[in-house]
Amino acid sequence: MGERITAPKGTYDILPADQAVRRWVIGVASEVFRRYGYGRLDTPMFEETRLFSRGVGESTDIVRKEMYTFEDLGGRSMTLRPEGTAPAARAYVEHGMHTRPQPVKLWYHWPMFRYESPQSGRYRQHYQLGIEAFGSESPLIDAEVIGVLAALYREIGLAQVELRINSMGCRECRPGYVASLRAFLEEHAVELCPECWERARINPMRTFDCKVRGCRLVLEGAPRLTGSLCPACAEHHDVVRRHLVMQDIPFVEDHRLVRGMDYYTRTTFEFQSAVLGAQSGVGGGGRYDDLVETIGGPPTPGVGFGTGVERILLALERSRSDLPSAQPPSVYLVALDETSRSEVFALAHELRTAGLAVELDHMGRSVKGQMKQASRSGAPFAAILGEQERADAGVTLKRMSTGEEQQVPRIEVLERIVEAGEDER
Ligand SMILES: [Zn+2]
Ligand SMILES: [Zn+2]
Repeated sequence: MGERITAPKGTYDILPADQAVRRWVIGVASEVFRRYGYGRLDTPMFEETRLFSRGVGESTDIVRKEMYTFEDLGGRSMTLRPEGTAPAARAYVEHGMHTRPQPVKLWYHWPMFRYESPQSGRYRQHYQLGIEAFGSESPLIDAEVIGVLAALYREIGLAQVELRINSMGCRECRPGYVASLRAFLEEHAVELCPECWERARINPMRTFDCKVRGCRLVLEGAPRLTGSLCPACAEHHDVVRRHLVMQDIPFVEDHRLVRGMDYYTRTTFEFQSAVLGAQSGVGGGGRYDDLVETIGGPPTPGVGFGTGVERILLALERSRSDLPSAQPPSVYLVALDETSRSEVFALAHELRTAGLAVELDHMGRSVKGQMKQASRSGAPFAAILGEQERADAGVTLKRMSTGEEQQVPRIEVLERIVEAGEDER
């Protein structure tokens, strides 16, 4: 045997047993998105690197140290998609969606690739569900987008989530604020960690993300953007808040909520889950009115969110015990002798062609062994076929829950199993 090869660090396999709950979450999400008028978008898993360096921002952690960037054989710099908003904006522009009636509402379920440190509990390939609404400046659509995510969490039964909101201002009011924050940070430089010196220089608002205690203490006294919003941004934020209340969505104002992308303007939000630990975001997003222009499109406002599927699943596992699991087959076929195996094989083919999920033995197991597999499979019935059944053109149908057996003409097997299944529902 050669040296064993394992999955790359920070990645994982999704095994058959893990698929049911995942498929259910994605199904609920796609139904919620449909109800709010979103259409599904899929884009390539890799894009030109400059889409992210320009769109997400050179100064962000994502672009500086988390991207999977490679040169293709044609010498072009490509990057595995680290987030969904920039590719969605790219597709919006490329397909002339700005000429359609606005807003254009898109949703996705995509793998994302980031070089995360594995200790953080985050994956280097993870899946995100997200939506993007392009073309409307209305604060009502911010409130609606937050409402979509709240509806998703509610409908999958994700309890104990807390919504935090903030405003990042706009290109009118933010630069003045950033300058005063930078001045404040320079004044307190000796009390800050080295990483925050760096942040103070390239993106001062990111210092609010620092987990170091000393930095947090200093930042308690820092000027707040909420105090320097221009009248238009203040009004926008106020209308968003009112329309959250209207949807019965409780929220907390959090001036430290800056999120990791440069493109956010005005509304930012994050849902945090108590079961994932303090300050642990399960999903969030915000408004990005300058993004489409930054990547070469016409000036177009936008707002959206992304929510990590693994984070949702982890929070669900920790808070619910009644999650969907894999469906058992409808029937397990048992051959009583070697000659009946072909007959069982033919019956399996018939029933599967008619739409039933059917299992049978392929390991030469004894009758006892096959019965054991039948009960392990979770199938409500075993259909048993031997010499006698072959002679009678029949099947012995055994109800696994009661052990009760019944002779059934072979042509009625399908009907009996389907009827019994409907009775149990
Ligand atoms: Zn403003
Ligand atoms: Zn710091």
